[in-house]
Amino acid sequence: MNIILLGCPGAGKGTQAKILTQKYHMTHISTGNIFRDEMAHKTDLGKKVEQYVNSGRLVPDAVVVELVSARLQNSPNGFLLDGFPRTLEQAQALDAFLLTSHLSIDAVIYMRLGEAAVIQRLSARRQCKACGEVYNLVSHPPKAPGICDVCGGTLIQRDDDMPGTVQKRLMVYNDLTDPLVAYYKSNQAFYEVDAAQTPEQVSSIIFKIVEETVP
Ligand code: AMP
Repeated sequence: MNIILLGCPGAGKGTQAKILTQKYHMTHISTGNIFRDEMAHKTDLGKKVEQYVNSGRLVPDAVVVELVSARLQNSPNGFLLDGFPRTLEQAQALDAFLLTSHLSIDAVIYMRLGEAAVIQRLSARRQCKACGEVYNLVSHPPKAPGICDVCGGTLIQRDDDMPGTVQKRLMVYNDLTDPLVAYYKSNQAFYEVDAAQTPEQVSSIIFKIVEETVP
């Protein structure tokens, strides 16, 4: 099964992707996580993308498309795309790749969330530096302040979750990624979910969508 999760930063795509891939065992491809991991390991790719990621700008399409294509080829149980595509060019490159690989998308799930809620969520988001586990200081705080429940690592605020950068990311989202909603609405099995609900409510809706849609 091949799924695209669409939605603005903070909509909860990463949280839902984790729940879905645990249940259905497809490959989770999160371009944001891949970039953060490369940056943490100071690889050539990490150094190349750092300036974009930390300032809230998009990494150039060619870099992202090459990276994602390689992972799609290694997803025998299907894939869940989280944070890709983010531009029309990326969506078109994905379509071309799927066509030549005789693959298709089973569902595009758009997680809709208003801007005020996005800003609130991103300012309260903390992430474990060691294992990547995500917390929210209001709705899902760690048991001990600043410490990861899972591995005991230190919780940090992502550079791109700082207020100035959040504004920039939202502008980029509105200009470049939001048009994909219309693109997929007219072309694919498209589902819209109210992402303001609790993660459990959102995932139960998504499970229903997956079970009704996917062969
Ligand atoms: P995310 O964790 O999905 O919010 O992504 C964090 C950052 O990684 C973004 O603000 C971009 O700088 C970069 N990034 C992630 N996915 C993409 C993509 N598909 N295209 C371009 N840049 C991306």
